[in-house]
Amino acid sequence: MLLDSTVSANPEGRLKDILAKFEAVAANPLEYARDFKRDSGKRVIGLFPMHFPGELAHAAGALPIVLQADDEPVTIGQGSVFNFYCGYNRSIVDQAMRGEFAFLDAILFGDHCVQLLGTADIIRDHLPDTPILFNQLISIIDAEWAMEETQGTFRQLWRELEDLTGEKISDDQVRHSIGIFNRNRALIRQIYDMRRAGRIALTGSQMQHIVKSSMIMDKETHTALLEELVAKLEAAPPANNAVRVYLSGHLCHAAKLPILDLVEECGGVVVDDDLYTGYRYIAADVEETGSPVDALSRWYLEKNKKIPCPTRADKDLDWEDFLLAQVDKSGAQGLIVLMVKFCEPHMYFYPEIKEAFERRGIPHLMIETEHEEMPMEALKTRMETFLEIAKRRVAA
Ligand code: SF4
Repeated sequence: MLLDSTVSANPEGRLKDILAKFEAVAANPLEYARDFKRDSGKRVIGLFPMHFPGELAHAAGALPIVLQADDEPVTIGQGSVFNFYCGYNRSIVDQAMRGEFAFLDAILFGDHCVQLLGTADIIRDHLPDTPILFNQLISIIDAEWAMEETQGTFRQLWRELEDLTGEKISDDQVRHSIGIFNRNRALIRQIYDMRRAGRIALTGSQMQHIVKSSMIMDKETHTALLEELVAKLEAAPPANNAVRVYLSGHLCHAAKLPILDLVEECGGVVVDDDLYTGYRYIAADVEETGSPVDALSRWYLEKNKKIPCPTRADKDLDWEDFLLAQVDKSGAQGLIVLMVKFCEPHMYFYPEIKEAFERRGIPHLMIETEHEEMPMEALKTRMETFLEIAKRRVAA
């Protein structure tokens, strides 16, 4: 079992223990989920990023886990998926073909990009015994009919989960799950606030471990650890005066740790982000009163106002305007865009972000990330140069 009950007596030791537990789950999400299933006897449902709420699967008595890319090279999956699919899709297909998802009781798919549609078909073909709950959420989220469409999709998903478990899911059960998820999100946002204000020192990798483990772990267990962590972090030393950077992009899957670590190694400090395995995942809460279907629908349609998503169409929101405002708000001295190679939705938006930051004279660095090995030495030189420019720009 990944989470043992070893408790360190001193506060600093306990802080390290909690962060180490989050790191262990983030490093081996499927191992945690398998152990959880064995120990609890509950179902485990795999969720695809980025728009389906885990609350419904939780209310159905299951552990919802956001399926993650792993670090293994894509081997047996290579023949089934296009080379120009992003690393997330290729890794997911490879894991499915390696039998890694065989223990899942269902997989919940959305169609938020064209590549995921292909992945859904491949997985259906290779896991014929695993129920695939495939739902299409409306992508034009400011359309007049968006609310009705979204309500319909969530009602359908609700029914499918009832069919899967053979039990009714009540409104109260869903409201209870929403409350549990909201509490977890609020605590992580609190950590973000503390980091933005420079009151605590957490690296980009540590922040990713916190969010990624929240995507996997039993929410109440994770929340209990977060409550302890927040109290202990207050007593931790504040962040140093390194170059403050904002991380943006990297949809669907977690950024590689060596890339995140490079920021600190080269003299920077991450003060905020809009990464999916970051603030994007916890930015918006769901209302805990009234009809849960309505509340979940509003959550889906309005979370774009918290952080614009390039996979959704909303004519009143521009990602670049959001980023400029966030960089100002967080006091960041520069922006690092992490782009998953072949991520079409991100590629469409990037030119406008680049232009907007150039117009404002704010340094930014774009790093295209690969699932496979990356040339870290060359990347280090680019990172050092970027941080030096950001430092000099502030001094000037
Ligand atoms: S990272 Fe981009 S291309 Fe890959 S699944 Fe997500 S949205 Fe699609």
